Amino acid sequence: RIAYVNGRYVRHADAAVHVEDRGYQLADGVYEVCEIKRGYIVDERGHLDRLDRSMRELRMDWPVERKAMELILREVIRRNHVRNGMVYVQVTRGVAPRDHAFPTKPVRSALVVTAKRMDPRAVEAKAAKGMAVITVPENRWERVDIKTIGLLPNVLAKQAAVEAGAGEAWFVDPDGTVKEGASTNAWIVTKDGSLVTRPADHGILRGITRATVMKVADKLGLRVEERVFSVEEAQAAREAFVTSATSLVSPVVSINGKPVANGHPGSVARSLREAFFEIAEKSPTC
Ligand code: PLP
Repeated sequence: RIAYVNGRYVRHADAAVHVEDRGYQLADGVYEVCEIKRGYIVDERGHLDRLDRSMRELRMDWPVERKAMELILREVIRRNHVRNGMVYVQVTRGVAPRDHAFPTKPVRSALVVTAKRMDPRAVEAKAAKGMAVITVPENRWERVDIKTIGLLPNVLAKQAAVEAGAGEAWFVDPDGTVKEGASTNAWIVTKDGSLVTRPADHGILRGITRATVMKVADKLGLRVEERVFSVEEAQAAREAFVTSATSLVSPVVSINGKPVANGHPGSVARSLREAFFEIAEKSPTC
């Protein structure tokens, strides 16, 4: 495997950043993950637009021009022979003597890109099974709309899920409403067949997959309501599912041990997943 690290393509096993990279010491960085399917990058424009926004919110500069970034993504995908899988992009504020405040001397932000193959059959088999979800109290900062590499609450939430035999943990506010998953957006399907997902304010990450699923829903003639919903409403819903670049649309079959409907993946999530790739923006990798 090959990775891109600050201007160089290196063996993945040898890929390393400086000990004073601000991402390493302070989590002072942002990232994106894009799905690669049948040789196309899915929703590349949306992901790079969000990367741009994340950097602007944190007053970081692009490490290379956007056009160069697009070429680097493709080169990493090509060198790793990825037709199905994902590409990871991380930008940190750069290498500078450790200090919480921004470096006083200008430093170039640091760029790391990796890509990974994923077996599409294994991915589909996992989605067909559906996943259990647990809930955890929301304990993150107020700007989770910025896709930063500061993911400790998400790490702990996902670990709690794994230890409970679940696939995802949903962060829940003190009022009992669902925010989003540790690495996914959360959705339910109401008894009348409408899709419900939390409004994308500063309280959740505005998922690129979430936005595409809204377009898919429109094509399928499904109504989407952006509003808060509670854990109880989700447990009593017709269906629940999560969305993210790597899991696309994945059915949720239980929440805190309580089955959603009959405890099997629902047909709405399946239809959304099946139609997803047709509607998503596809950029060729070569
Ligand atoms: N919410 C969180 C906290 C995430 O980390 C992610 C993706 O990693 C998502 C939502 C889904 O976003 P996207 O669909 O852009 O992958």
